[in-house]
Formats: sequence, structure tokens, C-alpha cells
Amino acid sequence: MREIILAGNWKMNKLVSETKSFFGELSPLVKDCKNTVVICAPYTALAAAVDCVTNANVFIGAENAHWEKSGAFTGEIAADMLAEIGIKYVIIGHSERRQYFGETNETVAKRTKAVLNAGLKAIVCVGETLAQREKNVTESVLNEQITLGFNGITAEEMKNVVIAYEPVWAIGTGLTATAMQAQTAISFIRQQIKNIYGEAVAENISILYGGSMNEKNAAELLSMPDIDGGLIGGASLVAGKFAAICNADNK
Ligand code: PEP
Repeated sequence: MREIILAGNWKMNKLVSETKSFFGELSPLVKDCKNTVVICAPYTALAAAVDCVTNANVFIGAENAHWEKSGAFTGEIAADMLAEIGIKYVIIGHSERRQYFGETNETVAKRTKAVLNAGLKAIVCVGETLAQREKNVTESVLNEQITLGFNGITAEEMKNVVIAYEPVWAIGTGLTATAMQAQTAISFIRQQIKNIYGEAVAENISILYGGSMNEKNAAELLSMPDIDGGLIGGASLVAGKFAAICNADNK
């Protein structure tokens, strides 16, 4: 049985005051949830979010981390700084980082390594754009993102890696991949992981779907055999909606 993970990605949203009220609402709603629940928050809200956690199945994540341990990198955050304040997960290679901030598969590999070296878990995002899907190159794009994005990561380290398949055309657009489209892409990703790391790693790694997942479509997506949870943007900003997604898994 793979770990089922529902991870919220708040992006550049929520003040500290809003973070506190969110957790006040969320905690009772997910207290009986059997899945792992993660909230990835902006840096300024992280310490407050850690303080708000009362359930053993709830963890806080960051949305990025630099690959160096320290130094002259104005505006960046090191993985050790996140670990020190109780962060457990870090999103790496989100499509918004790739699109707006020059993230590449090479920097994804470096950031992932740093996160793992700091004892944290990496949620590494992959996914094709609409143009790539229409050109029928989804599989080669995913293959390249995996091969280069995990360059230098060992099979042992992969135990602390979660993959999020996020088709770029489905993020924040209201367009969701069908359950079958998501299942097909995620099963392809699992096969590529098997080719690189072998069966045990491929069978144990949690692979999430992300892209306009909400309280209405979550149960169907999560019922697919290879979908081990979700990375949720918009719907994770509302405690009631996010809790409904966390509790929707029926595997
Ligand atoms: C995301 O940002 O990772 C995401 C999936 O966003 P949304 O759920 O809003 O599409």
C-alpha cells in the first residue's frame, strides 16, 4: 500500500492571521483522515503554520528551496533553514517556477538533492504544456523531466521523493485532466521510474495528480490505481474544500 498524500499549494496567498484561522477550521475536519495531509505555505506563514499543527497526520511544506547550504544568494532560502523550523516537505520544480523564474530540469535536480540532504521530502513536479500535449510529445517531455530532474538522486534517496504530475494546461484553469488521462500519464511516470530505479522504488513511490482538483472531482481521480493523492492549488485555500478532498480518497 502506497502512502496517499494530499498536499495543498498556497502559492503567494495567505497572511499569518489567515493561516491561523485556516488551521483553526482545518484541524477538526481532518483529525480522522487516514491520509497524509500537507500544507505548503509561503515562507512568512511557515512558522505560524507549524505552530498550528495539532494532528499527527498533518505536515507543513515550503514551495521552493535553494540548492546551496548558505551564501550570497539574495532572496533565496536554504533547505536547512526550512528544516530548522519544522518543515517536512518542499515543492520543487512547480510549473510556475519553470515558467516565470527560469527553473530547469537541471536546477530541479540540484534543489531536490539539497532538500533530501537536509532530511526533508521533495515533492517534484512534472507535466506537459497544452502545446506539448497537442503535439503528442507528452511522454517524451515527462521522460526528459524525470531523467534530468532526478539526475544524481539515488534509489535510497527516492524513498523521500514524491512526484506530482501536473499537466500545465490544468493548473488554475478549471480544466481537469480526466481520471483516465491522469492515470495514463502517472502510470507512464511509474514505468520510467521503474526503468531507472527498479520495481521496488516504482511500486513504493507516491505519485500525485495536480491540476484543478477539487471536492467534486477528487474521489474519481483518487480512485485510479496509480494516483496516490493530489497537489491542490486553488481548492486548498478554503479549509472546508481542502478537507473534503483529503477525506475523499476511497482506496
Ligand atoms: C498547483 O498549483 O499545483 C495546482 C494544481 O493548482 P490548481 O489546483 O489551482 O489547479
